[in-house]
Amino acid sequence: MSVWAVLAAAGRGERLGSERPKAFARLGGRPLLAESLERLEGSDWIDAIVIAAPPEWEEPSILVAEEIAATKVSSAVTGGETRSESVRLALADVPEDAAAVLVHDAARPLLPEDVIERVLAPLGEGWDGAVPVLPLSDTIKRIEGEQVVETLPRGELVAAQTPQAFAADALRRALAGGDISGATDCASLVEARGGRIKVVEGDPRLLKVTDGADLALVESWLAEK
Ligand code: C5P
Repeated sequence: MSVWAVLAAAGRGERLGSERPKAFARLGGRPLLAESLERLEGSDWIDAIVIAAPPEWEEPSILVAEEIAATKVSSAVTGGETRSESVRLALADVPEDAAAVLVHDAARPLLPEDVIERVLAPLGEGWDGAVPVLPLSDTIKRIEGEQVVETLPRGELVAAQTPQAFAADALRRALAGGDISGATDCASLVEARGGRIKVVEGDPRLLKVTDGADLALVESWLAEK
């Protein structure tokens, strides 16, 4: 079974307050993108990688891949306006005969090999996809403006991370039609088409870097290694 990875790295990352896109913010002295790319390259489960790069950062993305000798990188495509569009554009570079696609956010640099293994395993059991999740510790409320409308049952809720793994056909179908721009992950699009998504245990180190404090935290975890 050939497994392709799509690395979504085309976000602008405005909350980091840098001139560069988030994937090129510095982490441990190199671009953030390098960390997850190196882990995908080193994974026993991944055969090839397509990067969705910010517009005009396609070539620098390939240079990052070359610098870390990531020979599995097949191409860096121009990302879209939203995450889902970026994944759709990258998926066009994944060959038809790929059996599975692992979609990962470059903004989650610390990608453990055991999570890759955990999300891919359910595909062999007939699931359409799998997502790593963490339990919630806060109480979650739905709001309208400044008013609480509803308090949700925390025991039924989890926080979904990436990497998310999919049977390639299921992901292609989910991304093919309609307005996908509002989706914040790929699993929601597969679910909307009736796909069966399994949850597996996530990892707190898969924190998504959104601001400078997240970057500093991930940097400190990296230094602990
Ligand atoms: O900001 P957001 O949570 O949507 O970012 C999640 C991931 O999706 C990041 O790695 C980011 O680079 C990527 N992304 C993308 N194309 C976009 C927006 C976000 O590849 N247009």
